[in-house]
Amino acid sequence: MMLNMLQPEYEVVRDKDRCTRCRICERQCANGVHRMDEAGGVMLSDSTKCVCCHRCVCLCPAGALKIVKTDHTFRESGSWKGQTISEIYRQAESGGVLLSSMGSPKEYPSYFDRILINASQVTNPSIDPLREPMETRVSLGKKPQTLRRDRSGRLVPSLPPQLRLSVPILFSAMSYGSISYNAHAALAQAAERLGTYYNTGEGGLHEDFYKYGKNTIVQVASGRFGVHPGYLRAGAAIEIKIGQGAKPGIGGHLPGGKIVGDVSRTRMIPEGSDAISPAPHHDIYSIEDLRQLVYSLKEATAYEKPVIVKIAAVHNVAAIASGVARSGADIIALDGFRGGTGAAPTRIRDNVGIPIELALAAVDQRLRDEGIRDEVSIIAGGSIRSAADVVKAIALGADGVYIATAALLALGCHLCRSCQQGRCNWGIATQRPELARRLDPALGQQRLVNLVTAWTHEIEEMMGGMGINAIEALRGNRLMLRGIGMTSRELAILGIKHAGE
Ligand code: SF4
Ligand code: SF4
Ligand code: SF4
Repeated sequence: MMLNMLQPEYEVVRDKDRCTRCRICERQCANGVHRMDEAGGVMLSDSTKCVCCHRCVCLCPAGALKIVKTDHTFRESGSWKGQTISEIYRQAESGGVLLSSMGSPKEYPSYFDRILINASQVTNPSIDPLREPMETRVSLGKKPQTLRRDRSGRLVPSLPPQLRLSVPILFSAMSYGSISYNAHAALAQAAERLGTYYNTGEGGLHEDFYKYGKNTIVQVASGRFGVHPGYLRAGAAIEIKIGQGAKPGIGGHLPGGKIVGDVSRTRMIPEGSDAISPAPHHDIYSIEDLRQLVYSLKEATAYEKPVIVKIAAVHNVAAIASGVARSGADIIALDGFRGGTGAAPTRIRDNVGIPIELALAAVDQRLRDEGIRDEVSIIAGGSIRSAADVVKAIALGADGVYIATAALLALGCHLCRSCQQGRCNWGIATQRPELARRLDPALGQQRLVNLVTAWTHEIEEMMGGMGINAIEALRGNRLMLRGIGMTSRELAILGIKHAGE
């Protein structure tokens, strides 16, 4: 007989005096935690199935529920924590690779939390953003260093293709299939209202969303799902995904159970077949190969759209980015190792890659040293959690930032980290119609617009405090940053001074 050595992580606590036995929790929990004991007339819970998504807690009309972390404990030691012991039991039982979703919960240092922002005092006075204009618009793409004139000496006012954003914040790649139709609809509508961009991820573009094309970045990943000439022409930019921060060096896998209906049509693969993206692009083994793909995509879209190359933040990222800049890419997207994912092997997510702060500073510096910084723009992503992170990322050298987990939180995600199971109770990471319809796209887009609007106000306040009135003047302005509690090596890589200097 197989012994169950795993204990529930969470415990469902029901206040029996408050509970009216309305059974809403039973209907709301797709994990089957709650059930009515008809004979006894009481509600029961199976805590082993609870992923702590808080759906039942938020919807219980009597306020009778709470989820607590179980106080069951292992005999732990410095090396053998309860989590490690549980994972070994799980693998001994299943023989399989452990899968996880969202960003790594491991407590690696967050450099953003060890960086402080400057403010003007006495000289170089601060600017009041309520009374004076602040420029939050940015353009992403190549910035030529020379002016061109025609034969009669007139200026040629043409630039390579650019993405123009009213705020330096874009919604990062999340594929239709890993997230629901309604989640994509909310992101597309919010991007349009905000004057920014959302990203299809590697799942193709649903026909209903072609109308948002001018605010869409279409992605070309190693699986090439849903890629055809119309798709490439539909977006405002094309992103070649080489790597992803949460799972550098490996491909993707969307289980056949999620390849249903529109998802299968949009990806152009049969229903029920697993969507497996290979680890490498099978036609890219060098920067020259990458250049061929960059120029094939430019050729296919009449050189009208910027091409982004997305890479994961890994050990030698600065040299890789230098190669990418020379491949002809217009924009480099850098994805740090704390970035989210719909599904990734746990060991990869928690152990591979480097923090975005270090990668971003190293890449910006390398491109400056090589005199090619204006050949590409940089979008930084992978754990941008607040307006302060945006300001710090831009001062470290980013032109703009990608957000994804923060956007999903705005849509109602409670970071239960079980997206890979396809039973998202908040209608986000699911293709089950009865769950997907729980997310109202109109409400979702309003919450996304609210979030980015709030961050924009905060960015303006921080910029004003520094006496800076334009994002362009903040980009790479590391004098505005100071480190706290860092080694001199860390400060040197970030290119910032220590607080007090
Ligand atoms: S939703 Fe609340 S009140 Fe209704 S059965 Fe569940 S615990 Fe009881
Ligand atoms: S999985 Fe979510 S909805 Fe189900 S019991 Fe746990 S917190 Fe409630
Ligand atoms: S998207 Fe849904 S399943 Fe994924 S972490 Fe958020 S609430 Fe959980």
